Amino acid sequence: MKQRLKTREEKTITPMDWKKIAVIGGGISGLATAWFLREEALKQGRRIQVDLFEKEARPGGKFETVEQEGYIIEGGPNGFLDNKPWTLDLVRFLGMEDRLLTSDQAAARRFIYSRGRLHELKPSILSFFLNGPLSVAGRIRIAGEFLATPTPKGEDTSLAEFARRRLGSEALERLIDPMVSGIFAGDPSRMSLRASFPRIAELEENFGGLTKALLKLRRDRIRAKRRGEEVTVSSGPSGPGGVLTSFKSGVRELTDRLAGELDDRFHGKEQVFTLEGKDGRWRVVSSGGDYTADSVILAMPSDAAAGLLAPIAPEAAQLLFQIPYSPMAVVGLGYRLADLAPPPHGFGYLIPSVEGINLLGALWDSAIFPGFRSDPDHFLIRAMVGGAQDPETPTLPEDVLLDFTLKNLARTMGLSAKPVFHALFRWEKAIPLYTVGHLERLERTESHLPPGIFLTGNAYRGVGINDCVRDARTTAIKTLDLLDGQRL
Ligand SMILES: Cc1cc2nc3c(=O)[nH]c(=O)nc-3n(C[C@H](O)[C@H](O)[C@H](O)COP(=O)(O)OP(=O)(O)OC[C@H]3O[C@@H](n4cnc5c(N)ncnc54)[C@H](O)[C@@H]3O)c2cc1C
Repeated sequence: MKQRLKTREEKTITPMDWKKIAVIGGGISGLATAWFLREEALKQGRRIQVDLFEKEARPGGKFETVEQEGYIIEGGPNGFLDNKPWTLDLVRFLGMEDRLLTSDQAAARRFIYSRGRLHELKPSILSFFLNGPLSVAGRIRIAGEFLATPTPKGEDTSLAEFARRRLGSEALERLIDPMVSGIFAGDPSRMSLRASFPRIAELEENFGGLTKALLKLRRDRIRAKRRGEEVTVSSGPSGPGGVLTSFKSGVRELTDRLAGELDDRFHGKEQVFTLEGKDGRWRVVSSGGDYTADSVILAMPSDAAAGLLAPIAPEAAQLLFQIPYSPMAVVGLGYRLADLAPPPHGFGYLIPSVEGINLLGALWDSAIFPGFRSDPDHFLIRAMVGGAQDPETPTLPEDVLLDFTLKNLARTMGLSAKPVFHALFRWEKAIPLYTVGHLERLERTESHLPPGIFLTGNAYRGVGINDCVRDARTTAIKTLDLLDGQRL
């Protein structure tokens, strides 16, 4: 006879007047939400119990750091940018500042592979124009950006349409496409400008164009400097501004620490199967038993959230199922330093899809964080494969994928040395794609959510670690406000 699973209430005793919140999904989004819930409740003198359910044994989701043979290899993110406060603030609250690791100066050197060689993307606009990967015609076309027709007010458009209209086809293919690969492993022809690059949409809307916006912001900065005010440097053409920041033993330090803070309220290896309304509360059924919550936060990938919502909120589920994901593989490759002459110096490079090479790019981790990602006489490179425009390559058998990657590294960065170590990470659903209309669909989805259910995670309001942490805090506050309003 099938043994009845104990309800969680039978296993733990919670005072009757405490509100109970279930967070489902133990990636950075769920872990940070649980942490903010407890912190905010403490600040407000509220009594709550937060339980987090994660289907894998280990916390972290896409935060996967592996230590092997003297290498520290990131299977997912390798850090966050310090130009936004959210992750840094969380790290400070946790008292982990001494664990932070900032990238080396060398990481300011970023490259794009184009027409047979690597081009360094200089931060100065002038040298970018003189040395970038664009032809003279492509550069002249960019210079005409201020003449471009603006996007109709309030309308969403694809990144490709926007870039072609404002900057020209060559800039789209040789600059925007690899930049999009670097952040989203995405496809500019499907991606929403407003949802994926809100700042760019905002600059166009507020200033009538990008050149006009850059000039106006530059003038403002010069004036502010003259007034003796502190000026933050914004992004150059080589990518988003800010310094890449990680942890000495890898990003996993942060998610391990957050899970540790939850102690036995982190329920690893507990997949949630169903969610049912029960007397104005929610019954969460997981592989570990039953749990009754006043509020439930879904911090899992959107398709998994849709699966749980389908019986109780079919319209929301149907909209969530429409969010596509790009698959990716990360190939970590360890080399003897002596075999690399000279070793790569910089952040790494991206490859435009128009080059027809099945490689998104490569990151030179041992140059980004010298002394922290490999032994001093070794060097770690991570190659990124796949994305929305090449979904097949990440599914190749390991030996074929490895061989393929090495050939493409030889072709693009002239790397002929044999690696002495490799590690492969596959992500079937690596990064969600915000397609055109994403923000409008998200608003509709949320309007169909039953009371007490919230969504957070990288599928909604930003894929970067900073975005996930910011959204986690907003979601925690919204949840507490609702519980307060309900006065349950
Ligand atoms: C290769 C790669 C490189 C990246 N590089 C960077 C970078 O350098 N910088 C940056 O800022 N961002 C980067 N990102 C993006 C960033 O890492 C992610 O957006 C972020 O980590 C997502 O966190 P999350 O918690 O929202 O989702 P996830 O990490 O996907 O977590 C969701 C969790 O939900 C769990 N789950 C699913 N279903 C259930 C269920 N039924 N019951 C219980 N649990 C369930 C999953 O097991 C998972 O642990 C990268 C992403 C990838 C894939």
